[in-house]
Amino acid sequence: MTPDLDPSTVVVHAGRPERVPNAPVGESPVFSSTYVAGGDRGYGRFGNDAWTALEETLGELEGGRALTFASGMAAAAALIDLIPVGGRVVAPQHAYSGVLALLDQQAATGRLKVDRVDIADTDAAVQAVDGADMLWIESPTNPAMEVADIPALAAAGRAAGATVVVDNTFATPLLQQPLRLGADVVMHSATKFIAGHSDVLLGAVVTADDELWSAIDLRRRSLGAIPGPMEAWLALRGLRTLALRLERAQSNAAFLAERLREHPRVSRVRYPGLPDDPGHDRAAAQMSGFGAILAFELGGDAAGAQNVCESTELWVHATSLGGVESMLERRRRWPIEVPTIPEDLIRLSVGIEHPDDLWADLEQALSAGI
Ligand SMILES: *Cc1c(COP(=O)(O)O)cnc(C)c1O
Repeated sequence: MTPDLDPSTVVVHAGRPERVPNAPVGESPVFSSTYVAGGDRGYGRFGNDAWTALEETLGELEGGRALTFASGMAAAAALIDLIPVGGRVVAPQHAYSGVLALLDQQAATGRLKVDRVDIADTDAAVQAVDGADMLWIESPTNPAMEVADIPALAAAGRAAGATVVVDNTFATPLLQQPLRLGADVVMHSATKFIAGHSDVLLGAVVTADDELWSAIDLRRRSLGAIPGPMEAWLALRGLRTLALRLERAQSNAAFLAERLREHPRVSRVRYPGLPDDPGHDRAAAQMSGFGAILAFELGGDAAGAQNVCESTELWVHATSLGGVESMLERRRRWPIEVPTIPEDLIRLSVGIEHPDDLWADLEQALSAGI
């Protein structure tokens, strides 16, 4: 595709069938476990047209070649499997709890070593990466909303010989392209904004390094965490409208961040789009928007925060994020959430509803039961 197209155009047009008479406009899922011999595909665990279309689109957006997986965790597990036995990974203190739990489990068996650092503290991360095999970055982090200096960390990680991974789930490929900032591999939970409708689980990795791509492809083939063709097709169908969804969700998030900040019960709002947020300048330098996730705290009142989550009518009280419908939850209701995440922190995944309706419901929930 023409190299100078805006990402909001690429997201619509990449990964389409060739325009020849009678060709369909979009790719379809192929429901076949195997293929007639003589071609390069061979078997259903090695390829599907619906994966290819989604992978071409994600690859073009991120500036590399993509591989899709059964879930974000399947994609993360394939990357963690790249670490040599006995190797060391530097990971954020706060990041998606499932990834941190998987690293802890592998450390407990002796498979690898983990050093956790405050990923917003560039000096600490740079020091820790010396001699490491992998640097795992997430930015903004889930759910603390910290922003890592991706260009500085990627340069330090690569200089130290570590594979630099960025979990780009919160930013999406439209707001942040870590390969262009120096990372080796990007990972996505496509379950979230990419698919965008809370109806499918899917993961993806993207890299511009052919050797790394082959090593990850080998893991997908042999570990077998492949996406179903229907799931890949649903994710691609959702991805086509990402630019529009994100535009609305992001402006809703900015509006809600300001409203929450003025609310007397709210002690802290975490959103890099706020000019005085600790991650604001970094996010402004490396992202083209601040995204649609934010978090806020209620001055230590965990029971009150739980009550807010249980008092909304429009907002869905559920885990997960990135769907068209707004969702909220108190992250510490999960036993595996990192204990340094405040007990009263509520994560908001802002959807595409009307901002006034979203605020009215939140305001109503904030005054319920007090
Ligand atoms: C949800 C999430 C994951 C895990 O993805 P699944 O699709 O749920 O397996 C990984 N990283 C981040 C930042 C997430 O939000």
